[in-house]
Amino acid sequence: MSAAIIDGKAYAEGLRARIAGAVKALSEQGVTPGLAVVIVGEDPASQLYVRNKARQTVEVGMRSFEHTLPASTSEAELLDLVARLNADPAVDGILVQLPLPKQIDAQKVIEAIDPAKDVDGFHPINAGRLMTGVPGLVSCTPLGCLLLAQSVRRDLAGLNAVVVGRSNIVGKPMTQLLIAQSCTVTVAHSKTRDLRQVCRSADLLVAAVGRPEMVRGDWIKPGAIVIDVGINRVPNPAAGEGKTRVVGDVAYAEAAEVASAITPVPGGVGPMTIACLLRNTLEAACLRRGLGMPS
Ligand code: NDP
Repeated sequence: MSAAIIDGKAYAEGLRARIAGAVKALSEQGVTPGLAVVIVGEDPASQLYVRNKARQTVEVGMRSFEHTLPASTSEAELLDLVARLNADPAVDGILVQLPLPKQIDAQKVIEAIDPAKDVDGFHPINAGRLMTGVPGLVSCTPLGCLLLAQSVRRDLAGLNAVVVGRSNIVGKPMTQLLIAQSCTVTVAHSKTRDLRQVCRSADLLVAAVGRPEMVRGDWIKPGAIVIDVGINRVPNPAAGEGKTRVVGDVAYAEAAEVASAITPVPGGVGPMTIACLLRNTLEAACLRRGLGMPS
Protein backbone atom coordinates (compact mmCIF):
# COMPACT_ATOMS: atom_id res chain seq x y z
CA MET A 1 0.00 0.00 0.00
CA SER A 2 1.13 3.53 -0.60
CA ALA A 3 -0.50 6.13 1.60
CA ALA A 4 -2.29 9.23 0.34
CA ILE A 5 -0.30 12.30 1.30
CA ILE A 6 -2.31 14.74 3.40
CA ASP A 7 -1.26 18.10 1.97
CA GLY A 8 -1.34 20.47 4.94
CA LYS A 9 0.12 23.31 2.90
CA ALA A 10 -2.75 23.19 0.40
CA TYR A 11 -5.36 22.75 3.14
CA ALA A 12 -3.94 25.72 5.06
CA GLU A 13 -3.99 27.84 1.90
CA GLY A 14 -7.68 27.05 1.39
CA LEU A 15 -8.44 27.80 5.04
CA ARG A 16 -6.63 31.15 4.82
CA ALA A 17 -8.61 32.02 1.68
CA ARG A 18 -11.89 31.28 3.50
CA ILE A 19 -10.71 33.38 6.47
CA ALA A 20 -9.78 36.25 4.13
CA GLY A 21 -13.31 36.15 2.66
CA ALA A 22 -14.88 36.28 6.12
CA VAL A 23 -12.54 39.10 7.22
CA LYS A 24 -13.53 41.10 4.14
CA ALA A 25 -17.22 40.66 4.98
CA LEU A 26 -16.57 41.73 8.59
CA SER A 27 -14.52 44.75 7.49
CA GLU A 28 -17.48 45.90 5.41
CA GLN A 29 -19.41 46.00 8.71
CA GLY A 30 -16.63 48.15 10.18
CA VAL A 31 -14.83 45.38 12.09
CA THR A 32 -11.20 44.51 11.30
CA PRO A 33 -9.89 41.71 13.52
CA GLY A 34 -6.49 42.41 15.11
CA LEU A 35 -3.83 39.98 16.35
CA ALA A 36 -1.10 41.05 18.77
CA VAL A 37 2.02 38.92 18.88
CA VAL A 38 4.53 39.43 21.68
CA ILE A 39 8.05 38.10 21.46
CA VAL A 40 10.62 38.41 24.23
CA GLY A 41 14.29 37.97 23.31
CA GLU A 42 16.17 37.38 20.09
CA ASP A 43 15.80 33.66 19.33
CA PRO A 44 16.15 33.62 15.50
CA ALA A 45 13.73 30.68 15.01
CA SER A 46 11.04 32.41 17.09
CA GLN A 47 11.63 35.70 15.26
CA LEU A 48 11.23 34.01 11.87
CA TYR A 49 8.05 32.32 13.06
CA VAL A 50 6.65 35.60 14.39
CA ARG A 51 7.47 37.41 11.10
CA ASN A 52 5.62 34.64 9.22
CA LYS A 53 2.61 35.04 11.48
CA ALA A 54 2.59 38.81 10.99
CA ARG A 55 2.80 38.46 7.19
CA GLN A 56 -0.02 35.94 7.01
CA THR A 57 -2.16 38.02 9.40
CA VAL A 58 -1.93 41.01 7.08
CA GLU A 59 -2.47 38.83 3.99
CA VAL A 60 -5.89 37.72 5.25
CA GLY A 61 -6.85 41.35 5.87
CA MET A 62 -6.39 41.48 9.66
CA ARG A 63 -4.37 44.01 11.61
CA SER A 64 -1.08 42.78 13.07
CA PHE A 65 0.45 44.32 16.16
CA GLU A 66 3.98 43.16 16.90
CA HIS A 67 5.69 43.74 20.23
CA THR A 68 9.36 42.81 20.37
CA LEU A 69 10.77 43.08 23.87
CA PRO A 70 14.40 42.64 24.98
CA ALA A 71 15.50 39.34 26.58
CA SER A 72 16.02 41.26 29.84
CA THR A 73 12.28 42.12 30.12
CA SER A 74 10.92 41.48 33.61
CA GLU A 75 7.80 39.47 34.35
CA ALA A 76 6.08 42.63 35.63
CA GLU A 77 6.83 44.49 32.38
CA LEU A 78 5.41 41.65 30.28
CA LEU A 79 2.32 41.36 32.48
CA ASP A 80 1.85 45.11 32.11
CA LEU A 81 1.91 44.81 28.30
CA VAL A 82 -0.57 41.89 28.42
CA ALA A 83 -2.90 44.04 30.57
CA ARG A 84 -2.73 46.84 28.01
CA LEU A 85 -3.48 44.44 25.15
CA ASN A 86 -6.38 42.95 27.12
CA ALA A 87 -7.84 46.46 27.41
CA ASP A 88 -7.16 47.49 23.79
CA PRO A 89 -10.40 47.25 21.74
CA ALA A 90 -8.42 46.96 18.47
CA VAL A 91 -6.83 43.71 19.70
CA ASP A 92 -8.96 40.57 19.34
CA GLY A 93 -6.22 37.98 19.80
CA ILE A 94 -3.08 37.93 21.93
CA LEU A 95 -0.26 35.47 21.41
CA VAL A 96 2.84 35.47 23.58
CA GLN A 97 5.55 33.49 21.81
CA LEU A 98 6.98 30.69 23.94
CA PRO A 99 9.47 29.84 25.32
CA LEU A 100 10.02 32.89 27.51
CA PRO A 101 13.29 33.85 29.23
CA LYS A 102 13.79 32.10 32.57
CA GLN A 103 13.03 35.14 34.75
CA ILE A 104 9.42 35.03 33.48
CA ASP A 105 6.86 32.47 34.67
CA ALA A 106 5.14 31.44 31.40
CA GLN A 107 2.09 30.01 33.20
CA LYS A 108 1.52 33.32 34.97
CA VAL A 109 1.62 35.14 31.63
CA ILE A 110 -0.75 32.64 29.98
CA GLU A 111 -3.21 33.07 32.84
CA ALA A 112 -3.00 36.88 32.57
CA ILE A 113 -4.32 36.85 28.99
CA ASP A 114 -8.06 37.56 28.71
CA PRO A 115 -9.54 34.12 27.84
CA ALA A 116 -11.69 35.84 25.18
CA LYS A 117 -8.44 36.93 23.43
CA ASP A 118 -6.46 33.74 24.13
CA VAL A 119 -6.08 32.65 20.49
CA ASP A 120 -3.46 30.04 21.46
CA GLY A 121 -6.10 28.33 23.61
CA PHE A 122 -3.58 27.78 26.43
CA HIS A 123 -5.51 29.58 29.21
CA PRO A 124 -6.87 27.11 31.80
CA ILE A 125 -10.36 28.50 31.15
CA ASN A 126 -10.16 27.55 27.48
CA ALA A 127 -8.52 24.19 28.29
CA GLY A 128 -11.37 23.56 30.74
CA ARG A 129 -13.99 24.57 28.19
CA LEU A 130 -12.52 22.09 25.72
CA MET A 131 -12.57 19.37 28.36
CA THR A 132 -16.16 20.04 29.34
CA GLY A 133 -17.46 20.48 25.79
CA VAL A 134 -18.23 24.20 26.17
CA PRO A 135 -17.36 26.36 23.09
CA GLY A 136 -14.04 28.17 23.50
CA LEU A 137 -10.75 28.86 21.77
CA VAL A 138 -8.86 25.63 20.98
CA SER A 139 -5.06 25.22 20.70
CA CYS A 140 -4.01 25.78 17.10
CA THR A 141 -1.82 22.73 16.42
CA PRO A 142 -4.29 20.07 17.65
CA LEU A 143 -7.10 21.90 15.86
CA GLY A 144 -5.04 21.73 12.66
CA CYS A 145 -4.42 18.00 13.22
CA LEU A 146 -8.15 17.37 13.63
CA LEU A 147 -8.99 19.28 10.43
CA LEU A 148 -6.39 17.26 8.50
CA ALA A 149 -7.68 13.93 9.88
CA GLN A 150 -11.22 14.97 8.95
CA SER A 151 -10.06 15.90 5.45
CA VAL A 152 -9.40 12.18 4.97
CA ARG A 153 -12.37 10.86 6.89
CA ARG A 154 -15.17 13.25 7.80
CA ASP A 155 -16.61 11.04 10.57
CA LEU A 156 -14.02 9.82 13.06
CA ALA A 157 -16.57 8.32 15.48
CA GLY A 158 -15.66 4.90 16.80
CA LEU A 159 -12.06 4.94 15.58
CA ASN A 160 -9.33 3.77 17.92
CA ALA A 161 -7.12 6.85 18.19
CA VAL A 162 -3.70 6.87 19.82
CA VAL A 163 -2.06 10.17 20.75
CA VAL A 164 1.63 9.84 21.55
CA GLY A 165 2.54 12.81 23.77
CA ARG A 166 0.65 14.44 26.64
CA SER A 167 1.86 18.05 26.57
CA ASN A 168 -0.56 20.84 27.45
CA ILE A 169 -0.12 22.43 24.04
CA VAL A 170 -0.51 19.37 21.78
CA GLY A 171 -1.14 15.94 23.32
CA LYS A 172 -3.79 16.80 25.92
CA PRO A 173 -5.95 19.12 23.78
CA MET A 174 -5.63 16.64 20.88
CA THR A 175 -6.97 13.94 23.17
CA GLN A 176 -9.94 16.10 24.15
CA LEU A 177 -10.73 16.98 20.54
CA LEU A 178 -10.74 13.30 19.57
CA ILE A 179 -12.93 12.35 22.53
CA ALA A 180 -15.35 15.03 21.35
CA GLN A 181 -15.34 13.31 17.94
CA SER A 182 -16.33 10.04 19.68
CA CYS A 183 -13.00 8.31 19.09
CA THR A 184 -11.80 5.76 21.62
CA VAL A 185 -8.60 7.49 22.70
CA THR A 186 -5.41 6.09 24.21
CA VAL A 187 -2.78 8.57 25.36
CA ALA A 188 0.81 7.35 25.31
CA HIS A 189 3.91 9.01 26.76
CA SER A 190 7.45 8.30 27.87
CA LYS A 191 6.34 5.79 30.53
CA THR A 192 4.01 3.83 28.23
CA ARG A 193 4.83 0.12 28.06
CA ASP A 194 5.19 -1.51 24.65
CA LEU A 195 4.57 1.68 22.72
CA ARG A 196 4.91 -0.17 19.41
CA GLN A 197 1.96 -2.41 20.25
CA VAL A 198 -0.11 0.53 21.51
CA CYS A 199 0.54 2.41 18.26
CA ARG A 200 -0.35 -0.68 16.21
CA SER A 201 -3.86 -0.59 17.71
CA ALA A 202 -4.49 2.86 16.21
CA ASP A 203 -6.86 3.52 13.33
CA LEU A 204 -5.79 7.14 13.80
CA LEU A 205 -2.30 7.81 15.14
CA VAL A 206 -1.15 11.27 16.22
CA ALA A 207 2.57 11.52 17.04
CA ALA A 208 3.54 14.58 19.10
CA VAL A 209 6.73 13.50 20.78
CA GLY A 210 9.74 15.48 19.57
CA ARG A 211 11.85 12.37 18.79
CA PRO A 212 13.06 12.17 15.17
CA GLU A 213 11.45 9.28 13.26
CA MET A 214 10.72 7.33 16.45
CA VAL A 215 7.50 5.78 15.12
CA ARG A 216 8.59 3.09 12.64
CA GLY A 217 6.64 1.53 9.78
CA ASP A 218 5.97 -1.67 11.74
CA TRP A 219 4.31 0.41 14.53
CA ILE A 220 1.54 1.37 12.13
CA LYS A 221 -1.69 -0.58 11.68
CA PRO A 222 -2.28 -1.27 7.98
CA GLY A 223 -4.68 1.36 6.64
CA ALA A 224 -4.26 3.77 9.58
CA ILE A 225 -4.41 7.55 9.26
CA VAL A 226 -1.13 9.04 10.55
CA ILE A 227 -0.78 12.64 11.71
CA ASP A 228 2.83 13.62 12.43
CA VAL A 229 3.18 16.73 14.61
CA GLY A 230 6.92 16.44 15.20
CA ILE A 231 9.35 19.05 13.94
CA ASN A 232 12.89 17.79 14.48
CA ARG A 233 16.03 19.19 12.94
CA VAL A 234 18.60 16.48 12.18
CA PRO A 235 22.02 16.52 10.47
CA ASN A 236 21.92 16.17 6.69
CA PRO A 237 25.47 15.31 5.64
CA ALA A 238 24.31 14.51 2.08
CA ALA A 239 23.58 18.24 1.60
CA GLY A 240 26.99 19.27 2.94
CA GLU A 241 28.82 19.64 6.20
CA GLY A 242 26.82 21.29 8.96
CA LYS A 243 23.60 21.13 6.93
CA THR A 244 20.36 20.00 8.52
CA ARG A 245 16.91 18.88 7.46
CA VAL A 246 13.57 18.68 9.22
CA VAL A 247 11.93 15.33 9.96
CA GLY A 248 8.85 14.33 11.91
CA ASP A 249 8.32 11.90 14.77
CA VAL A 250 7.31 9.23 12.22
CA ALA A 251 9.67 7.42 9.84
CA TYR A 252 7.78 8.75 6.85
CA ALA A 253 8.90 6.45 4.01
CA GLU A 254 8.30 3.29 6.07
CA ALA A 255 4.98 4.49 7.47
CA ALA A 256 3.71 5.55 4.03
CA GLU A 257 4.04 1.92 2.94
CA VAL A 258 1.53 0.83 5.57
CA ALA A 259 -0.81 3.76 6.33
CA SER A 260 -3.79 4.78 4.20
CA ALA A 261 -3.02 8.49 4.64
CA ILE A 262 -0.15 10.40 6.24
CA THR A 263 0.97 13.98 6.79
CA PRO A 264 4.46 14.80 5.50
CA VAL A 265 7.03 16.83 7.45
CA PRO A 266 7.45 19.56 6.39
CA GLY A 267 4.19 20.47 4.66
CA GLY A 268 1.72 18.64 6.91
CA VAL A 269 0.68 19.87 10.34
CA GLY A 270 3.16 22.80 10.42
CA PRO A 271 1.35 25.11 7.95
CA MET A 272 -1.97 24.42 9.68
CA THR A 273 -0.85 25.96 12.98
CA ILE A 274 -0.70 29.58 11.75
CA ALA A 275 -3.86 29.12 9.64
CA CYS A 276 -5.70 27.94 12.78
CA LEU A 277 -4.30 30.88 14.73
CA LEU A 278 -5.88 33.21 12.17
CA ARG A 279 -9.10 31.22 12.36
CA ASN A 280 -9.08 31.62 16.15
CA THR A 281 -8.48 35.37 15.82
CA LEU A 282 -11.48 35.65 13.50
CA GLU A 283 -13.55 33.60 15.94
CA ALA A 284 -12.44 35.76 18.90
CA ALA A 285 -13.30 38.93 16.97
CA CYS A 286 -16.80 37.60 16.20
CA LEU A 287 -17.51 36.24 19.69
CA ARG A 288 -16.35 39.42 21.43
CA ARG A 289 -18.90 41.38 19.39
CA GLY A 290 -21.69 38.85 19.77
CA LEU A 291 -21.50 37.96 16.06
CA GLY A 292 -21.78 34.38 14.80
CA MET A 293 -18.64 32.73 13.43
CA PRO A 294 -18.75 32.93 9.62
CA SER A 295 -18.76 29.44 8.08
P1 NDP B 1 6.78 18.16 24.74
O1 NDP B 1 8.25 17.93 24.87
O2 NDP B 1 6.12 19.18 25.59
O3 NDP B 1 6.02 16.77 24.96
C1 NDP B 1 6.50 15.59 24.40
C2 NDP B 1 5.64 14.44 24.82
O4 NDP B 1 6.19 13.26 24.23
C3 NDP B 1 5.63 14.21 26.33
O5 NDP B 1 4.32 13.91 26.75
C4 NDP B 1 6.56 13.02 26.52
O6 NDP B 1 6.19 12.14 27.58
C5 NDP B 1 6.39 12.27 25.24
N1 NDP B 1 7.58 11.48 24.94
C6 NDP B 1 8.87 11.89 24.94
N2 NDP B 1 9.69 10.87 24.63
C7 NDP B 1 8.91 9.78 24.46
C8 NDP B 1 9.17 8.45 24.13
N3 NDP B 1 10.41 8.00 23.93
N4 NDP B 1 8.13 7.61 24.02
C9 NDP B 1 6.85 8.04 24.21
N5 NDP B 1 6.55 9.32 24.51
C10 NDP B 1 7.56 10.19 24.63
O7 NDP B 1 6.56 18.47 23.19
P2 NDP B 1 5.35 19.22 22.44
O8 NDP B 1 4.07 18.52 22.71
O9 NDP B 1 5.45 20.67 22.66
O10 NDP B 1 5.80 18.96 20.92
C11 NDP B 1 5.90 17.65 20.39
C12 NDP B 1 6.47 17.74 18.99
O11 NDP B 1 5.60 18.51 18.18
C13 NDP B 1 7.84 18.44 18.89
O12 NDP B 1 8.59 17.83 17.84
C14 NDP B 1 7.48 19.85 18.50
O13 NDP B 1 8.52 20.50 17.78
C15 NDP B 1 6.30 19.60 17.61
N6 NDP B 1 5.36 20.73 17.52
C16 NDP B 1 4.95 21.08 16.28
C17 NDP B 1 4.05 22.11 16.11
C18 NDP B 1 3.59 22.43 14.73
O14 NDP B 1 3.15 23.53 14.47
N7 NDP B 1 3.63 21.47 13.81
C19 NDP B 1 3.57 22.90 17.24
C20 NDP B 1 3.99 22.38 18.53
C21 NDP B 1 4.88 21.36 18.64
P3 NDP B 1 6.25 12.58 29.14
O15 NDP B 1 5.04 13.43 29.34
O16 NDP B 1 6.16 11.27 29.86
O17 NDP B 1 7.53 13.30 29.32
